Amino acid sequence: MNQPLPYEDESLTGYILRLSIANYYPSLKYIYDELSVFQNKRIFSYYLDTLMLDDCDLAKLSALAGSSLDILRNLMFCEVDKANQMYVYNKSVFSLTAICTLKAKLCPLCLKENEYIRKIWGLVNVTACPYHKVMMVDQCQNCSKKILWTQSNIFMCSCGHSHKNSKVEIAGEACISISEYVYQECGLLSKNLSLPIDLINLNTMNNVILFFAKHIGDFKNLSQLSGINSLIKDFAILQKQVFDLFKAWPQGFYESWINKERDNKIVNIKRLWAILESFILKFLKIERTPIVLLGRNLLTIS
Ligand SMILES: [Zn+2]
Ligand SMILES: [Zn+2]
Repeated sequence: MNQPLPYEDESLTGYILRLSIANYYPSLKYIYDELSVFQNKRIFSYYLDTLMLDDCDLAKLSALAGSSLDILRNLMFCEVDKANQMYVYNKSVFSLTAICTLKAKLCPLCLKENEYIRKIWGLVNVTACPYHKVMMVDQCQNCSKKILWTQSNIFMCSCGHSHKNSKVEIAGEACISISEYVYQECGLLSKNLSLPIDLINLNTMNNVILFFAKHIGDFKNLSQLSGINSLIKDFAILQKQVFDLFKAWPQGFYESWINKERDNKIVNIKRLWAILESFILKFLKIERTPIVLLGRNLLTIS
C-alpha cells in the first residue's frame, strides 16, 4: 500500500482521494466500503470532513494510511456542539451553515504548486485564494460541469479536464478581504486584518452575510448560496454587497438600503428600520444610543 503523508491543512476527504489515486483505485468507493459509516448505505456524497468518523473507522483509515488517529481526526472539521451543529477549525467555532458540504471549490494555482485539497476551501465564505488573489473555481472550464462531492475524483472532471489547469480570474477586494479574514480566524494567516466593521468572529460574519442574503440580497432561498446549483460568482456578488455596505458604515449603509428599497419600489422605512435594528442588536458590537438616534432621524425624514 502506498501511503502519502497527509498535509496539516488537508481535507480528510481530499486525503482519502490522494490515497486512492496513489494506490490506483478506480474510485474512492474502494476505501469508503471499508468504513462502517457507509456499510449497507448508498453513498450520495463523498464529503466526510463534517461526518465525525468514529474511532473504529479512523483506526481502519489509520491502518490503510499509516498515519495516527489524531493526525487523521485533525483533517476533519471537529464537531464541538452536537445540538447546535457547531464545528471548530483551530480555535474558530462556526455553525454547519458556514461549511459547503455539497460543492467543492479549488484554487487552481494552489493545486498547481501542490495537488491536495485544503480543508479551509470547504468554508462557504472562502471565495478567493488569499495567497494567489484569484477566485476559487467551482465548475469545469471545459464542460461547465459543477465540481461536486458526489464525484469520486474532484481533481479532474469526467471530461478529462484537470482543474489545476483552469484559467484563473483575479478576485475583487471584497472576496479577498473576506477570504483572508476566514484564513486569519482559522489560524492560517497572521495578518491582523480587520473588516470595515468589527464582526466579532467568523461565525458572526457568516451569520451577517446570510442575514443580508435573506433581507437585502437577491437570494430568497439560502440553498441558492450553498446548494448544488449555487455558483461561487453569485456568492461573490453577495459578499461584495455586504462589504460595500460596511465600508460606508454607518451613513452609506442607510443610504444604500433606502436606494435599494426605492429601486424595488417598496419604500417602507419602518420595515427597513426594524430589519436594520434587529441586525445591529443581534450581530454588532455597537453602542445602541447612536443607532437609536439615527433610526429616529430616519423615521422623521420619511
Ligand atoms: Zn491559491
Ligand atoms: Zn469537464
